[in-house]
Amino acid sequence: MGKIKSVKFKLNRFEYVKPFHITNNISYDTQNIEVIIELENGIIGRGEASPSFRVNGEKIQALLGLEPVVNEMIIGMDVRNYRQIFDVTDKLFGAPSIKAAVQYAVLDAFSEEIGVPVYQILGGMKTKIETDYTVSIGTIEERMEDAKKIVERGHSVIKIKVGENLEEDIQAMMAIYEVSKGCKYIVDANTGYTPKQAVKFVTELYRAGIDIHVFEQPVAMHDIEGLKYVRWNSPFPVAADESARTKYEVMRLIKEEAVDYINIKLMKSGISDALAIVEMVKAANLRLMLGCMAESSLGVNQSVHFALGIGAFDFHDLDSPLMLKEPEFRGKYKVEGPYYFV
Ligand code: MN
Repeated sequence: MGKIKSVKFKLNRFEYVKPFHITNNISYDTQNIEVIIELENGIIGRGEASPSFRVNGEKIQALLGLEPVVNEMIIGMDVRNYRQIFDVTDKLFGAPSIKAAVQYAVLDAFSEEIGVPVYQILGGMKTKIETDYTVSIGTIEERMEDAKKIVERGHSVIKIKVGENLEEDIQAMMAIYEVSKGCKYIVDANTGYTPKQAVKFVTELYRAGIDIHVFEQPVAMHDIEGLKYVRWNSPFPVAADESARTKYEVMRLIKEEAVDYINIKLMKSGISDALAIVEMVKAANLRLMLGCMAESSLGVNQSVHFALGIGAFDFHDLDSPLMLKEPEFRGKYKVEGPYYFV
């Protein structure tokens, strides 16, 4: 028996090692909510919510108020029947990061109770993945220096944030390419370009001989036509991130043939929608990557176990804990350079 006795929320704040700059947004720190589920037998399961106001409209003050709501929803339910708990917590669609943290804490408690790690409960497809590392927006010099350090860290996939200044972004890409030849690039505009700017960006890079493996969210979140325009006018695969939060949004993107890739993040979808999205995207013969918000090691632990269990992702963009100052590492996985493994 694994009946839930209580659910507690705890606010944790983490500073970035250096400010994280993406299109129209600079973060100096993050406030995350740790979700602690206690079972009647004393077993504890943990999850972490890393909310995004920009993507999901979530504010920490509002999320903290959901603690009694979640208690009311799932107290007395058995973590062994976790799909039942997923169905109930799907109602938290207005607070997807909390949905993710609660659903993962349930899996974590179940895992502790039966002595099987979460990645094996989810399928056990892999035991090791590689994460990319992100170059955030800065001067061309800064971006080039950051790329150098990432190569030195041993990463073979570099994520590059663009979207605020088209001409500077193109120059920055050229500079980064010079110091990181042989690496794969995921370029993320975080909704910053117009469709025509996005096509200009990829066309110029293509002409310069720079290959992009994924061009992420070039245009505005709700501009599905724009995404589609970029997809069919780009030599490189185009991904939806901000446009692909729930399974319903992904279903529409598939129907509209708007993208090549879906970037799943547990913080946008929870575990339940993420599982559905994986199967939908596979059935549509499109590609998958897995990303993160500003999770600490406790939160990225969720995505590591999800990725290892499901094994369906071409790219793992799970570098947030590498960028945050944390008093202690709290993942149930190991880290060696760019590799996460169990
Ligand atoms: Mn993104």
